[in-house]
Amino acid sequence: MTKPSPDKPPVGKPMFGKIALIGIGLIGGSIALAARRAGLARTIVAATRRAETAETANQLKLVDHCGTDLAAACEDADLVIVCTPVGSCGEATRTIAPKLKPGCIVSDVGSVKQAVISAMAPHLPTHVHFVPAHPVAGTENSGPTAGFAELFDGRWCILTPLPGVDAAAADKLEAFWRGLGSEVERLDPADHDRILAITSHLPHLIAYTIVGTADDLAGHLNSEVLRFAAGGFRDFTRIAASDPTMWRDVFLNNREAVLEVLARFQEDLFYLQRAIRWGEGDKLFDLFTRTREIRRALIHLHQE
Ligand code: NAP
Repeated sequence: MTKPSPDKPPVGKPMFGKIALIGIGLIGGSIALAARRAGLARTIVAATRRAETAETANQLKLVDHCGTDLAAACEDADLVIVCTPVGSCGEATRTIAPKLKPGCIVSDVGSVKQAVISAMAPHLPTHVHFVPAHPVAGTENSGPTAGFAELFDGRWCILTPLPGVDAAAADKLEAFWRGLGSEVERLDPADHDRILAITSHLPHLIAYTIVGTADDLAGHLNSEVLRFAAGGFRDFTRIAASDPTMWRDVFLNNREAVLEVLARFQEDLFYLQRAIRWGEGDKLFDLFTRTREIRRALIHLHQE
């Protein structure tokens, strides 16, 4: 974990009067808890689709109040963050748009950027500042009970501000994410989507495939496969337990970038398949040596 950033706002001096979170699952709940921990807002409210979810959020005291009226929650808010699955961001933005106050910063946390920007931007009035964001932090758990204040500590948050956005608004959102514990970087939305396709989306697709394949193959050995699940396979089952709605939306909304890396991955897999078939151990050894170096470099970069 990295050291807290020196430009973190001091506790007790709220950066925002009112923050509204639209959707209060793992990410929305964690933002609420981390923002409260750092004293970043005087009031934090949320709104979500289902009454049971709102009730759980209220019982857990994640926010000052959580309801089911998305638009009402945004009234007088200085910062609104849409924390719903990627496929619902456009519709949620259309619902809240009439209540957004002039000068309000509107953001999101979607794991895909180009599609979310295209879905949200057309609904937003010109008097608000739209600054898209993606915290590269998560777990396989979802819903309001999954949130925790430390989720973003030392993790990246990528901002993808659009050309012409108010610089002060983008800087303020950056300072907010640093206040939540993140390191912040800015990227072009298309670059973001290509990078995440290989570092996050493809690994999830592989995990979903391996666990499904093992389950299909197992037949009468099914219970043995689960009983002896160790090391690698166990890690894959954890990733493959990630929220189905969220990940369905990620693949449907980052289609081109995922299909591009998937095609390359399939070629590389065929290369290994051939090497195994023809007993070309040197090819396997060379690749495994290179990937071991990559792992060491990653640890060096503190992203472990
Ligand atoms: P989550 O735990 O499933 O929470 C989603 C929240 O959105 C719930 O409160 C859900 O409420 C609400 N919601 C769903 N559909 C809605 C709709 N149509 N209108 C209003 N609210 C709706 O999901 P999450 O993991 O926090 O993910 C939220 C966003 O963060 C996604 O865009 C995802 O791509 C992004 N993200 C996720 C991770 C991760 O690892 N999980 C990491 C980084 C970014 P109800 O229960 O009321 O339906």
